[in-house]
Amino acid sequence: VYDINSRSKRHLNVGTIGHVGHGKTTLTAAITKVLSETNGTKAVGYDELDKTPEEKARGISIHATHVEYQAKNRHFAHVDCPGHVDYVNNMITGAAQMDVAILVVSAEDGPMPQTREHLLLARQMGVRHILVFLNKCDVVEDEGDRELVDVKVRELLGSCMFPANELPIVRGSALCALNGEKSDTVGKSSILELVQALVEYVHEPERPTLLPFLMPIEDVYSIAGRGTVVIGRIKRGVVKPGDEVEIIGLRDTIKSTVTSVEMFKQSLSEGQAGDYVGLLIDGVKREDVSRGQAVCKAGSMQPFKQFDGEFYALSKEEGGRHRPFTRKYKPQFFIGTAGVSGRIVLPDGIEMVMPGDNFTARVELRVPVAMQENMYVAVRDSDKTVAVGVINKVHA
Ligand code: GDP
Ligand code: MG
Repeated sequence: VYDINSRSKRHLNVGTIGHVGHGKTTLTAAITKVLSETNGTKAVGYDELDKTPEEKARGISIHATHVEYQAKNRHFAHVDCPGHVDYVNNMITGAAQMDVAILVVSAEDGPMPQTREHLLLARQMGVRHILVFLNKCDVVEDEGDRELVDVKVRELLGSCMFPANELPIVRGSALCALNGEKSDTVGKSSILELVQALVEYVHEPERPTLLPFLMPIEDVYSIAGRGTVVIGRIKRGVVKPGDEVEIIGLRDTIKSTVTSVEMFKQSLSEGQAGDYVGLLIDGVKREDVSRGQAVCKAGSMQPFKQFDGEFYALSKEEGGRHRPFTRKYKPQFFIGTAGVSGRIVLPDGIEMVMPGDNFTARVELRVPVAMQENMYVAVRDSDKTVAVGVINKVHA
């Protein structure tokens, strides 16, 4: 088993995205299976991945939609969401926070509506790297047919502003790899090719480890005999057992001490920016904390109710509104893992915003949220992403 504390491998956060039924979960299981044959990765079965979240809460370590695997010089944390709604929520709230997304497209069906929707969300929420796995090539054997899907996928990638001609498209079959079939053609070999592409194409982004610790809370568990565990991806800084922290946003601030930092069932001497961890926090009840709050170094930051931001209103084609919105608009704002209602205050003289417009605005939230400059914001209204933006300045 790879000792995470050694930090001898670069860490990357990966996720599978794409239309339902195209093979995301099968691929996730296949990657762990193939890599379990060559190194310390633990194979995670399809059935284990495809359970509902309630069935999956398994101890302090990690939500089971997250699995880990490794290559020679990389350690990967991989998220595979159970359903379309979970993907949308995870991407909108930044809970998944992928450094790279593997877009799974069935070669049988080609790109479908959710393929596009997930790609757009990935783009909007700042996912920089995409790799494509063209799945189900076991049933599409004709080279010309595969080529056709390839072209369609690159067209879609281009229309979503990804570098369509540069990024790798790996052809294979997750199911064959999982079942140990056609190893030299579409099975195991395609998984190894995909992992190789992950290693070569994606470099670990700069992790802001020197800034004060901050982690938006994605999930909260109560572990019998141990206490309350908050789970999330560390946004900046480092956290160690014994550190004093505050839990801020949405309600009154709570003080606590971190008693344990864990990642994939390993106890860490230190969690670092980029890590997906569970923190055992002292003396806090399960019901006193929730998703949407954030854990931070004590005294380092406070939640805010207002911010100035720069926004882009998505066009109809990008999944945005069909009609403009006016000064009275009250959508939902997603910041970190928080989703709260609020009001957009347009600058004087601006009466409405059309789909496709860039605009600046002051946002007044109903409750304070842990936020800071440069964080992404998604503005949503009845299941549509109306606008995306970035925070320029926060106000109490
Ligand atoms: P998800 O909704 O994207 O997670 O898709 P799943 O991984 O659950 O797969 C959906 C269906 O496609 C299942 O019945 C899989 O067995 C099947 N499937 C997945 N990968 C392949 C493949 O490479 N070839 C074939 N023929 N079927 C596949
Ligand atoms: Mg699935």
